[in-house]
Amino acid sequence: MLSCRAVVQDADRLLAGELTWQRRLALKIHLLMCHHCRRYMRQLRVLIRAVPLMHGRANDEEVSEIMAHICSSENSEH
Ligand SMILES: [Zn+2]
Repeated sequence: MLSCRAVVQDADRLLAGELTWQRRLALKIHLLMCHHCRRYMRQLRVLIRAVPLMHGRANDEEVSEIMAHICSSENSEH
């Protein structure tokens, strides 16, 4: 299992959709078992939405595209 540090380091790339599916799967397995990292991811999503500077010069369209991608991959798990 990944360490929390590894999850945090990859979190922004996960939200940006830049990771391989293998890496995403490893992160999601960790998130299923680790509520600290779940909380971190939730806060990071809010931050990316609220502070686009963190994500470079992302515009609203880009951010909502990323959010839609995250939401659809989450929904497909259920
Ligand atoms: Zn963790």
